[in-house]
Amino acid sequence: MSEPLFNRVALIGLGLIGSSLARVMKKEKLAGHIAGTARSAKTRAKAWELGYLDSIHDDAAACVKNADLVMICAPLGTYAEIGSAIRDHLAKGAILTDVGSAKQSVIRDLGPNVPDGVHLIPGHPVAGTEHSGPEAGFPELFQGRWCILTPPPGSDEKAVEKLATFWRRAGSNIELMEPGHHDRVLAITSHLPHIIAYTIVSTATDLADATQSEVIKFSAGGFRDFTRIAASDPVMWRDVFLNNREAVLEMLGRFNEDLTALQRAIRWGEGDKLQELFTRTRAIRRGIIDAKQA
Ligand code: NAP
Repeated sequence: MSEPLFNRVALIGLGLIGSSLARVMKKEKLAGHIAGTARSAKTRAKAWELGYLDSIHDDAAACVKNADLVMICAPLGTYAEIGSAIRDHLAKGAILTDVGSAKQSVIRDLGPNVPDGVHLIPGHPVAGTEHSGPEAGFPELFQGRWCILTPPPGSDEKAVEKLATFWRRAGSNIELMEPGHHDRVLAITSHLPHIIAYTIVSTATDLADATQSEVIKFSAGGFRDFTRIAASDPVMWRDVFLNNREAVLEMLGRFNEDLTALQRAIRWGEGDKLQELFTRTRAIRRGIIDAKQA
């Protein structure tokens, strides 16, 4: 039997991502010991009952003790507070990583709290569902999905490679990126689709009551696909928009311009323009299917 990759992994946050990580670590024997913590006693009790942890802790400081891998799996808005709670308890040589959906803010919020000898290597598994909480996770979540690592310049290469190996054994493909680039790419591929979905669902909700029941009844016409995305965790997504503000605003600006052009084409009956655009977008969908990311 092969040795576990890490002796002790500390998971701070036990929701969809944290509990999926615990499950895949157990399945693939990636950790000798999996320690976990979450904000509420209710989540800690549930996670412990589900049996994917080896120890559960009331606070992050106790959880990270002697861990050679620490993974923050909580909303982005909690990082600064978590960083200052764990800084004096991190083991020398440990890798400190995260799974947050924006990456520049991680360096901003965690960077000042990283002691010498601890390797900060931010990460983002581009995998998820609209569900959250300690029961939502499953070990296959990362299978065939990309995990983006954004090591700061001068990072220890061995530590980066070890973390990459961890994600590969969890089923992911690895891409290394500069954090600013990550935030722009994810602003268009993930954050903008979420803000659009939240807006459409909210606009429909604001319609008169009689129409609202029809919105639900006839949702198979396209609306229901947006409701799935708009059912994503409100706190997590609030923090994504607050922590990737610049890139999201830039993409929203471009989107608004394109939407206005489309609005004009509809108004003036420019069918050729509409058809040409819809033909191009259809090809993108085919590309996603071919890349096995559908
Ligand atoms: P989630 O299911 O809502 O779970 C969040 C977890 O963080 C909960 O266990 C929560 O505990 C815990 N938490 C909150 N504040 C904390 C604190 N101060 N100290 C310790 N634990 C704390 O969220 P998730 O979907 O797993 O998302 C976690 C992270 O992954 C986010 O940064 C998000 O950007 C990123 N991410 C999410 C997805 C996705 O599709 N969901 C995909 C990729 C990356 P309580 O339950 O007690 O509140």
